[in-house]
Amino acid sequence: MSIAGGLLVCMLAACGQPGAAAPVVTGAPALVSDAQHECVHVHRPGRQVLQLPAPEAGWSGHPQAVVVLNALSGEVDIRHGQRDRCGTLADARTLDSRFRAGVGTVLVPDAGDTAPIEIEYDANPLPLWRPIVQLGEPAPVQRADIGRFAIRVASLAVVLTLVMSALLSFVATRERAFLTYATTVSVFAIWVALLSGMWAWPRPWLPIAGFAVEAMVGLAVALVGVTTLALVRQSWLRRRLPQVELGVRWAAWALVIAGLCAPLLPLVVLAAMSVATEVGFYLLALVFAGVAITALARRRGGGASLLAGVLPFLAVAALEAFAPMTLALWKVEAFMLSGGWLALTCSMVLTLRLGVLRQQRDEMTRLAQTDPLTGLPNRRAALAQLERSIAGARASGAPLTVAFIDLDHFKRINDLYGHECGDRVLRHVAHALRGAFRSADHVARMGGEEFLVILPGADPDHARMRVDTLRAMLSSTGVVLDTPGMQVTLSAGISALRADDAGGDALLQRADTAMYAAKHAGRDRTELEAPRPALVD
Ligand code: GH3
Ligand code: MG
Ligand code: MG
Repeated sequence: MSIAGGLLVCMLAACGQPGAAAPVVTGAPALVSDAQHECVHVHRPGRQVLQLPAPEAGWSGHPQAVVVLNALSGEVDIRHGQRDRCGTLADARTLDSRFRAGVGTVLVPDAGDTAPIEIEYDANPLPLWRPIVQLGEPAPVQRADIGRFAIRVASLAVVLTLVMSALLSFVATRERAFLTYATTVSVFAIWVALLSGMWAWPRPWLPIAGFAVEAMVGLAVALVGVTTLALVRQSWLRRRLPQVELGVRWAAWALVIAGLCAPLLPLVVLAAMSVATEVGFYLLALVFAGVAITALARRRGGGASLLAGVLPFLAVAALEAFAPMTLALWKVEAFMLSGGWLALTCSMVLTLRLGVLRQQRDEMTRLAQTDPLTGLPNRRAALAQLERSIAGARASGAPLTVAFIDLDHFKRINDLYGHECGDRVLRHVAHALRGAFRSADHVARMGGEEFLVILPGADPDHARMRVDTLRAMLSSTGVVLDTPGMQVTLSAGISALRADDAGGDALLQRADTAMYAAKHAGRDRTELEAPRPALVD
């Protein structure tokens, strides 16, 4: 209330001020120039130098944009003449602010100058992630760079949204599958952040300075391990081939541990691990596609979503095999989009699967509370309903009455007309019960040929009237069931909730006693419970 009041006062004060609102001024005067980041020139061994030769007639004199993408580690120098621009993807503050996805700059070589533009960078430690160098007119190169950056930010945003949504679903449902999904997708999000340099934009926000490559490889390996563990838990391997499942689980844990040990491994081992992980991942996608196609052919659910999920990665794998240079240009974006798509389809499959499981659970609960012969609630459901009705009656002060009904000489009906006919009678009685009582009343089969009716808000006389309606309806059972001469009658006992009843037991006990009184009085009748004995002082 006080916050709302404060807001109201602020709004009124703002409205009361004449003229336009004062602008918000922020920041401070610049003291140093960030345009020329100072080169550190600290490199890993195996430094590469690339020369971009001038056209035959020399440079045109127009500005030339140069961008180096996928320089996963170390500093990149772009040089021409006196100009030397350095930057590293490990800290976006070192980048030329006109380029966001890579290390770039704009040079203006003199017209006719024939000196090449020189680019120096660390040898790429991951063989399947080639560096890309782009040269051209600044505006289109910049537009392409912005497009690339937008795809990266959007992909990361989608993946993080999926993580948040899975966490919310976990809080709501407590289903562990959502937590496993959120963990796996979070690891993927960090991995793509490392791959795309987003981890260091607008400034490094992951404490892995100097270990970006190790973290990338380690996370990729661990991700394959974690995903395998999650998939194995959901799969049929555990039931059908427990030995194989155990082996796969051990292998998956080995991958997770290998991933965690990545910072301790030499670069050459990391390179091998990175290639093996990527090829292994493509093979895994191929296996999934096979499983999905089999499921589709056998018309089992989930096949289409699984196939749709891995399809983009299969396209990436095909490009890697047959057109690696074409893929290289957009490989980071291809991985981010394909991974985001896979995470999206997995999230959909997870939600659908949990929906099916919930339906099955609801169905099992319903079956556990329903009598299969008559479709009426069973004894368990009746007792639970009785407790709820008692609580309701106590809360509202309204009366509550129960009628305990037992068919007369039912054994004889079975003996005379057969068990099957007895079953039909029970079904007919259930049907008549539904017709004789109000929809607010609760009818249940307590077992055998015994039924219970709970009548909230009704007094015993009203209950007796309803039971008598039922008795009248049953008088035509022989005709309805095409069994001339068959007589179906019932004995019923009625009791009402008393203030001192501890629970449903006493109430039922009195109705049962009244029902036996009806039996002893000659059957085919309704008896009210005995009145409470008067207190004698
Ligand atoms: P009473 O008037 O004293 O209640 O006699 P009764 O024969 O109705 O009572 P009793 O408890 O001796 O017999 C109940 C019979 O109900 C015995 C049992 O075979 C029959 N019964 C119980 N469940 C079913 C059922 O699902 N289907 C059929 N057809 N008969 C059932
Ligand atoms: Mg009985
Ligand atoms: Mg009976």
